[in-house]
Amino acid sequence: MTGPVGEPSFRQSVDLMFNRAAALMQLPPGLEEKIRVCNSTYTVRFGVRLRGEIHTFTGYRSVHSEHMEPVKGGIRYAPTVNQDEVEALAALMTYKCALVEAPFGGSKGGLCIDPRQYDADEIEKITRRFAYELIKRDMINPAQNVPAPDMGTGEREMAIIADQYARMNTTDINARACVTGKPPHAGGIQGRVEATGRGVQYALQEFFRHPEDVRAANLSGKLDGKRVIVQGLGNVGYHAALFLSTEDGCRVTHVIERDGAVENPAGLDIPALRDWIVGHGGVKGFPGGTYHEAGAKVLEAECDILIPAALEGVINMHNAHAIQAPLIIEAANGPITAGADDVLRHKGTVIIPDLYANAGGVTVSYFEWVKNLSHIRFGRMQRRQEEARHQLLVDELERLSADTGIGWTLSPDFKQKYLRGAGELELVRSGLDDTMRAAYQSMREVWHGRRDVTDLRTAGFLVAIDRVAKAYQAKGI
Ligand code: GLU
Repeated sequence: MTGPVGEPSFRQSVDLMFNRAAALMQLPPGLEEKIRVCNSTYTVRFGVRLRGEIHTFTGYRSVHSEHMEPVKGGIRYAPTVNQDEVEALAALMTYKCALVEAPFGGSKGGLCIDPRQYDADEIEKITRRFAYELIKRDMINPAQNVPAPDMGTGEREMAIIADQYARMNTTDINARACVTGKPPHAGGIQGRVEATGRGVQYALQEFFRHPEDVRAANLSGKLDGKRVIVQGLGNVGYHAALFLSTEDGCRVTHVIERDGAVENPAGLDIPALRDWIVGHGGVKGFPGGTYHEAGAKVLEAECDILIPAALEGVINMHNAHAIQAPLIIEAANGPITAGADDVLRHKGTVIIPDLYANAGGVTVSYFEWVKNLSHIRFGRMQRRQEEARHQLLVDELERLSADTGIGWTLSPDFKQKYLRGAGELELVRSGLDDTMRAAYQSMREVWHGRRDVTDLRTAGFLVAIDRVAKAYQAKGI
């Protein structure tokens, strides 16, 4: 399996990035190899009777590292899915989880299918059967392997997987924790759908809190007013574009989709564009901007921030030299090949790497998994504590009023305002923000603190590999 013509495959590309960081570490002999390799990949071919005939599908579930269990990672539905890709994505999950301190090993799954060719009932049948095959082999299990959505899958598929697992494991009280990204009414958590896009937003907010880092990207000032190009208006790209344009004052000047790109220097109306894509199957004809047929060329347009949020390998040796963006944030997994990474690094482009940039999804998956295992609504305990603290305040004011003869009271909306921060969505958001800030800081300490580290990706890998190595060593391997 090869990458973009003449370049290493996606998995080799991830390994090259790993090697760059590992070369700067003093890992015990053999451990480097143990961490880098993918532990196992299960391939399954199964048949489903659809439209009067049997259709055969090929699926994969790869486990990269079991230094912590369960292992975690999404399931992708795309016609291009292959073993090399699934293994690369599983490896990235290991490093991603380590960097944001989600206590999981890395895994990933994929089904070779074009989901747009099937209706909802057919997708349910296919998903049930694929889930059955994986559950049978403990490749979906709350204690061992916990999938989540990825490209081409979402809440519906996760609800089906959860239901299939529950049917096959009727006595497992933790059945719901077998998969994350479920709809909130089926054991999911508020804020999971938009979590990866939110994470991209929080990552950029954190980046722009450090003027030294902003200068390193040849930029100045705040996030407000920055010109942004987004490639891919799927779940991740859409939410990132939406939040950046409506909450942070960014101008999304270009959106690149399958059928081309659309441009509006004043800033595209993201919800309107999304509606247009849903209704028309592409960006062509969108009245709020100018259409360009050569979408990929638009990656090279002038902007402040480039957000590839679609497929791997889109920035490669063929176009890396032409990329003008001084700052790239990898909302997708592996959008920049190892070769392109070299070219861009030498040009001085700052890259906020995938293992950090798109870790918002798995971070909120972690909250969902904990919520499922605790069997209590997320935030309920915190809310009880907040209510108790509020009551202490009220009692104290009453005592003060009695002592002083002055009637001290809280304003009528104080309780509502005070407790608003304790709902599930607010807790998810603040937990995610906190995670993204802490992970960025751990990377930037290495970036600025070590002379031999000149980029955030290597810094991120160093932090992640070090944590994985410690976990292995603690286990006695
Ligand atoms: N598929 C997402 C990713 O690539 C989420 C994984 C998860 O939540 O387990 O990070």
